[in-house]
Amino acid sequence: MSFTVAIDGPAAAGKGTISKAVAAHFGFAHLDTGLLYRAVGAKVLAGSEPIAAAQGLLAEDLDAGDLRTPDAAQAASKVAVIPEVRAALVDFQRSFARRAGGAVLDGRDIGTVICPDAEVKLFVTASAEVRAERRYLELDANGHDVSRAEVLADVKARDERDMNRAEAPLKPAEDAIVVDTSGMAIEAAVSAAVDVISKARG
Ligand code: C5P
Repeated sequence: MSFTVAIDGPAAAGKGTISKAVAAHFGFAHLDTGLLYRAVGAKVLAGSEPIAAAQGLLAEDLDAGDLRTPDAAQAASKVAVIPEVRAALVDFQRSFARRAGGAVLDGRDIGTVICPDAEVKLFVTASAEVRAERRYLELDANGHDVSRAEVLADVKARDERDMNRAEAPLKPAEDAIVVDTSGMAIEAAVSAAVDVISKARG
C-alpha cells in the first residue's frame, strides 16, 4: 500500500527536519527533492548543459561533493526555472512517492504538481528572517564562511525566483495544511505533522 506525504515550503522553513522525523516515525521512505535540483545545479557549475544534466542524472550524483553549499543552492534555483529540467525529474519523484510502505517527499511543488493526489499535504513556512537565521547557524556549524547578511540575501533571492517562475511556482496547494514555524520549536512542528498524518491514516 502506498501513502504519500507531500511537504512543501521555502528554503530553511524546517521541511527537511520535519520530513526526516515523520519518515522515521511512520517508517516511510524520504526523498529530499531539492537534492535533485542541487545535483543538476552542481553539474552545471562544473560545465554541463542543464537539460542534459537533468536527463542524465544518476543516483550517485546525489552523493557527489557538497550539495549543501550556498552556490549549489543558487545554481539549483536557476536550473529549476527550466521546464525541461523539471520534466526530466518528474517520473523518478512520482514512482518514489508511490512505493509500497509510504513515502515523504519534500520540495516546492510536491503537493501542487508532482503528487496532487498525496494523502497528506503540508506547507511549512516561516518569515525570511527566521529562516535565514536557521540556515546561517547550520552553515556556520558546518564550517562554511558566510555572513548573516549574505544568507538572508540568498534566502530572499531564492524565494523570489521560486515563487515567481512560470513553471511549478512555490505556493501551497489549495488543500495543504499551512504550518508557520516562525515562533515554534521544531519539536512542536514535528508533533503537529505527526498528528495530521496519523488522522489521515485513520
Ligand atoms: O530544498 P532546497 O533548498 O534544497 O532546494 C534547492 C532549490 O531547488 C530551490 O531553491 C528550488 O529552486 C529548487 N527546487 C524546486 N522544486 C523542488 C525542490 C527544489 O524547484 N521540488
